[in-house]
Amino acid sequence: MTRSSVPQHQEHLPCLYCGERYGPDEFALHTDPVHCGRCITCVDKPACFSCRLMYCVCDVHRYRG
Ligand SMILES: [Zn+2]
Ligand SMILES: [Zn+2]
Ligand SMILES: [Zn+2]
Repeated sequence: MTRSSVPQHQEHLPCLYCGERYGPDEFALHTDPVHCGRCITCVDKPACFSCRLMYCVCDVHRYRG
């Protein structure tokens, strides 16, 4: 298996938003901003972020408890 050219600054730091440790294949999920734009609380947060706002209408970030 060849190593990818993805830069590894730190290894498996817990995510800022959800607190989970993630591997390279989940990198985008935890770092790519999602421009959902409908809720000011969660706009531009990565997909793993759970919006705790009760009235959040965002399909991506809405908290699924
Ligand atoms: Zn995350
Ligand atoms: Zn959102
Ligand atoms: Zn929201």
